[in-house]
Amino acid sequence: MRLTVLGCAGSFPGPESACSAYLLEAQGFRLLLDFGSGSLSALQRYAGLDAVDAILLTHLHCDHMSDACDYVVVRRYNPQGPLPKLPVYAPLGAAERIAAAYSPDAEPVDDVYNFFRLEPGTFPIGPFTVTVDRVNHPIETYGVRIEQGGRVLAYSADTAPCDALLRLAQGADVFLCEASYLDGVDNPPDIHLTGGEAGEAATKADVGRLLLTHLVPAWVSEASTVDAAVAAYAGPVEVVRPGSRYDL
Ligand SMILES: [Zn+2]
Ligand SMILES: [Zn+2]
Repeated sequence: MRLTVLGCAGSFPGPESACSAYLLEAQGFRLLLDFGSGSLSALQRYAGLDAVDAILLTHLHCDHMSDACDYVVVRRYNPQGPLPKLPVYAPLGAAERIAAAYSPDAEPVDDVYNFFRLEPGTFPIGPFTVTVDRVNHPIETYGVRIEQGGRVLAYSADTAPCDALLRLAQGADVFLCEASYLDGVDNPPDIHLTGGEAGEAATKADVGRLLLTHLVPAWVSEASTVDAAVAAYAGPVEVVRPGSRYDL
């Protein structure tokens, strides 16, 4: 499978990147993991306006789902006719949330999206075997483990340290993990990870490679975050960029 980073800025778009969105492709099937603020622009730059066969939204914070609202226009009003209904795997309330954000009268968007409620468990999406579990974030949020062709990608979504994250990431070839907070300062509990905590999780889960994401450029030092992750994890560590591609 191939991972393309469309956006990786944490919490709000940064000067160089949209918010979280990752395109995962295998056997011609294209799964979009999160669809955060500004990432519809990056989808067109790095993949294509209709290069999506399914969407998985880890949670309903704006920086992970807001461009699913803009994308209604793309699919509903396509000049050649409406595009096929798209499966959207998301926490309870996604349909209402997207409809409310799309228009003041909250007209349903079920002509565009076919919603499936996420619950902890394992299920197929196209060629991918997807396992999700609740992670440690203030709203209902799912970390993700995706298996295809004998390879494993784990994605933390937004989370503070938790056992579910370690289970999802166990033995993953690539661990795409958030690192929103700086190490060595007094961060609020149960919201996000630091670089050091991402590195600790990578070590405990025995992953093959750690990709750091969801850094908040305005508020953190990337160098400090990487240093803290490297101090806690002996494998390869890298901060992802928009347009970066990884073949698993
Ligand atoms: Zn976020
Ligand atoms: Zn969040």
